[in-house]
Amino acid sequence: MAKETLKKVGKKVKLNGWVDTIRDHGKITFIDLRDRSGLVQCVGDKLQKLTVESVVEIVGEVKKRPQKLVNPDLETGTVEVQIGKFKILNLSREQLPFPLDSDGYEIEEESRLKYRYFDLRRKRLQKNIRIRSDYVQAAREYLFSKDFVEIETPILTKSTPEGARDFVVPSRINPGKFYALPQSPQQYKQLLMTAGFERYFQIARCLRDEDVRADRGFEHTQIDIEMSFVTREDVMKTVEEMTIYAAEKIGAKFSRKPFPVFTYREAMKKFGSDRFDLRSEKEKENGALSFAWVVDFPFFEKDDNDGWTFTHNPFSSPINEEHEKWLLGKKNIGKIITSQYDLVCNGLEVSGGSIRTHKPEVLKAIFEILGYKDKEINSKFGHMLEAFQYGTPPHGGCAQGFERLLMAYLGEDYLREVQAFPQTGRGRTAVMDAPAELDNEQLTELGLKVVKPKK
Ligand code: ASP
Repeated sequence: MAKETLKKVGKKVKLNGWVDTIRDHGKITFIDLRDRSGLVQCVGDKLQKLTVESVVEIVGEVKKRPQKLVNPDLETGTVEVQIGKFKILNLSREQLPFPLDSDGYEIEEESRLKYRYFDLRRKRLQKNIRIRSDYVQAAREYLFSKDFVEIETPILTKSTPEGARDFVVPSRINPGKFYALPQSPQQYKQLLMTAGFERYFQIARCLRDEDVRADRGFEHTQIDIEMSFVTREDVMKTVEEMTIYAAEKIGAKFSRKPFPVFTYREAMKKFGSDRFDLRSEKEKENGALSFAWVVDFPFFEKDDNDGWTFTHNPFSSPINEEHEKWLLGKKNIGKIITSQYDLVCNGLEVSGGSIRTHKPEVLKAIFEILGYKDKEINSKFGHMLEAFQYGTPPHGGCAQGFERLLMAYLGEDYLREVQAFPQTGRGRTAVMDAPAELDNEQLTELGLKVVKPKK
């Protein structure tokens, strides 16, 4: 690797990588070879045809550079590789889609995403994606150390209400029927508690058909956890410890530890919002992360048709027995407080969870308050009501939208800057250009007919 040449003066090395720059000095050519570890200068005869961003293999001897030719800006600036054998493994077109030597913000989004595999080569995105990997790795480490089991849940599933529209997938072998892609693994993770795992986590992809915004896309990833026999404080402590462990691993600094806790009411009174930013100007300059918990949200709020809707998660339990009684008796509905807890970081909501209701009659009452009729409750959530009749432990959990946390840490304003292959603002996928039309044969096989939407 490029970086290792530092320790290999006088030795022969084989390097594979990309041509970062070419400086043609007539008889001799200098190239900077780039690989995952960094850059190293290589010197050789005139290298015909070579273009930047080509992939090459170089075999050569590492030499110490004379003092006056040392490049202090390069980690390997005290050495260079004298090219012996040189092979082009893949020649890049001369005309590149855009330059890579900037942070890339100035380049038009469509173009960056069409050539995302190329865009990702830039330093900033290499860093963002690698830090993302480090964060997830550290979170895993923490969770494994606390006895969690990593379990995958289905992608082809049934709708779970998380407040967004579903993406649906037609079923070929059940014509006229559709799967929904998961908005979150909420119901499955609860069923895993019924199944006796006690501590579950998953790096879960969540799909929600909602308007794309700076910090929201069709797809996002959560560190999704669920635990049995726990209180609200137990889950909050676990998430807080995981966050501190993982964020410290990537070098983050915190302005407040332990994370302060505000009630929803306090937050609204103090900050006028439940997604507030506690940082002072100085803390902002220092790039510190400022986390805070928000608890004691109302369970329900009025919807546009004067019915009730849930504020966070219909599977949550009320805060205590008194509120559970109100819920069962459909009394004081607007006053019922949920066990929900949200974690905010620098003004972004980065985690949310709750203690769930594991009593079938309470869950049923929630759906009744939300206006569902018996038939609908049974067809949509009958499996949960049934599972809760076979020994379901009290349980609760949380999901961390760690991509927003990374945005805060990396100083990025857009979710797409921390995702490898994000969508455009108009919902088209990077590189592959989906969604796309299906051919007639496929439509027939699926029993589908496309009706052009009215303009
Ligand atoms: N399923 C919830 C969400 O995606 C998180 C949770 O309550 O665990 O927001």
